[in-house]
Amino acid sequence: MTDIARLKAALADVKVEDNPAIVKQKSRDFYWYSPVLRRQLDHVTADLFVSPKNEAEVIHVLTACYAAGVPVTPRGSGTGNYGQAMPLSGGVVLSLAEMRAVTAIAPGRVVAEAGAVLAAIDRETRAHSRQEIRMHPSTYNTASLAGFIAGGSGGIGSINWGGLRDIGNVLRLRVVTMEETPRVLELSGLDLLKVMHAYGTNGIITEVEVPLDAAYDWIDVIAGFDDYMDAVRFADLLANRDGLLFKEIATVAAPAPYDYFLRHQKFLRREQSVVLLMVAPHALDPFLALAAREKADIRYRSDTATDAEKKGLPPVVELTWNHTTLRGLRVDPTITYLQVLYRFPGHVGSIARLTEIFGDEVPGHLEFIRFDGNVACTGLPIVRYSSDERLDEIIRIHEDNGCPIFNPHRYTLEEGGMKKTDAVQLAFKREADPRGLLNPGKMIAWENPDFDLDSDQVYLFPGLAQTAAE
Ligand SMILES: Cc1cc2nc3c(=O)[nH]c(=O)nc-3n(C[C@H](O)[C@H](O)[C@H](O)COP(=O)(O)OP(=O)(O)OC[C@H]3O[C@@H](n4cnc5c(N)ncnc54)[C@H](O)[C@@H]3O)c2cc1C
Repeated sequence: MTDIARLKAALADVKVEDNPAIVKQKSRDFYWYSPVLRRQLDHVTADLFVSPKNEAEVIHVLTACYAAGVPVTPRGSGTGNYGQAMPLSGGVVLSLAEMRAVTAIAPGRVVAEAGAVLAAIDRETRAHSRQEIRMHPSTYNTASLAGFIAGGSGGIGSINWGGLRDIGNVLRLRVVTMEETPRVLELSGLDLLKVMHAYGTNGIITEVEVPLDAAYDWIDVIAGFDDYMDAVRFADLLANRDGLLFKEIATVAAPAPYDYFLRHQKFLRREQSVVLLMVAPHALDPFLALAAREKADIRYRSDTATDAEKKGLPPVVELTWNHTTLRGLRVDPTITYLQVLYRFPGHVGSIARLTEIFGDEVPGHLEFIRFDGNVACTGLPIVRYSSDERLDEIIRIHEDNGCPIFNPHRYTLEEGGMKKTDAVQLAFKREADPRGLLNPGKMIAWENPDFDLDSDQVYLFPGLAQTAAE
C-alpha cells in the first residue's frame, strides 16, 4: 500500500476526491496570469483533494497527514494568481470551501469560518445590521475570507482602510498547527501577522474575525479623460477630499478600457482613459460638482442607467484590481501585468515619469489606497509581454525610478516581495510546522539556511521583528 492509499484509508470518514482529472483541476489557481508561472507550474497536481466540514475534521486530516509525512496545501476558492494554492510537492489539497458559516455578527465585527465567500458574508451582515466588510479583493463574489487573508493584500475599500498589512483590519484568527498532535491557536494583535499573507505555510486558518464598516448602496461611476495624467490627477484629487466617501478609486489608461471592458464599450470612447469609482450615495452631489469643475466626462452612472443598459454589465468591482488584467487577458492572452508601489508624496510624479518612459508598452492601471496614513497608489499596469528579459528590464526601470515591484511572476513568498520572512517568522514556522509539510516550496528561507533574513528589500508586509519594535 502506498502512503497515499494508507492516508486515504485513514481519512475514510472525511470527504476525499482522488479522481486525477478533478484533483488536478482543484490543484490550480490563477497562476496562468503569468507567462513565467504558466511554464513553471502547469504540471502541478496533488494526489488527494480533501474537504473537511468542521475544525475537528481539519485536525483529523492534519494528524493523519503528519503521521504519513504527506504535504498539505490549504485552499479557499483558488483565485490566488501567483500559484500560492498550488501543491508543488503533491500530497493533499485541503479545501476549506465547505466550512463557510457566518457564526457571529455584532456592531463593528463579524466572525466566519475560513471558507466563507466574502460577498456571502456581506449579504448576511447587510441583512443583519446594514454593515459590510471593510475591504475585499475584486474576486468578492468567489474568494474566501481565509484565502484573502492568507494570500491577498487589499482591494476595494483600501482607499479608506489601507491593506491587510495594517493592524486592525483583521481582529482574530483561529489556526490549527501541523504537529503530531495539532494545536489550535487563537491569534490576535501583532501575532496575526505571522499567519497573514503566509500562503498557509504555518497553519490552517479555521475561523476569522474581521471588523465591519457601515454598508452603503454604492454607486458605480466611470469618468473619461482624453489625457491619462488628467485622469490620474482627478483620481488623486478625489482620494484627498476628506469630506467625500468612496469605496473604490482606480484609473485605467486608454485604450485598455474600451478594448477590454467589452460590455461597457457602448459607454466608452477608445481614446479616453477612465477613472473607475464607487461613490457613497450621500457623496454623489458634491462629487459631481467637483467632476464638473475638473471637466471629467461622466460616461456611466449606475444610479441613472436604465435596467436595459445595466443588463449583463459587470459592476465596477469586477473592472478593477486584478479583474482589469483578467478582462485584458480574455481579449489578448499575450499581455501580462506587474504590481507596483507608488509612494506618497511623489506618487503622481513617479506615475507621470513611468507613463512617459513606457507609453503603450505598459498601459497604466492604478488603484488608489491609503498607505501608512497617506493617499498613495498601487499599480497593476498591463504589460505587453515580449520576453522574460524585457519583463525583468521593465521591473528594473520601475525600481530605478523609486517604485518597488511586488513580483507577480514568482510563487515564493520572498520573491513575490509582499511578505518578509525574518527570524521571528521562521521561528513560528518551526513551531507550527516542524516537518515543513504545509505548502512546501513557498518559503525559501525554510529550505535555504543561507537565505538572508535581514535583507533591506522593500516588502508590503514588513518583518515581524520590525513590526514588534516600531
Ligand atoms: C480576477 C482576480 C482578481 C483579484 N483581485 C485581488 C484583489 O483585489 N486584491 C487581492 O488582494 N487579491 C486579489 N486577487 C488574488 C486573490 O483573489 C485573492 O488573494 C483572494 O482573496 C484569494 O482567495 P481564495 O479563497 O481564492 O484563496 P486561495 O487562492 O484558495 O488561497 C490563497 C492562499 O491562501 C492559502 N489559504 C487558503 N485558505 C487558507 C486557510 N484556511 N488557512 C491557511 N491558508 C489558506 C492558500 O494556500 C494560498 O496560499 C485577485 C485574483 C484574481 C484572479
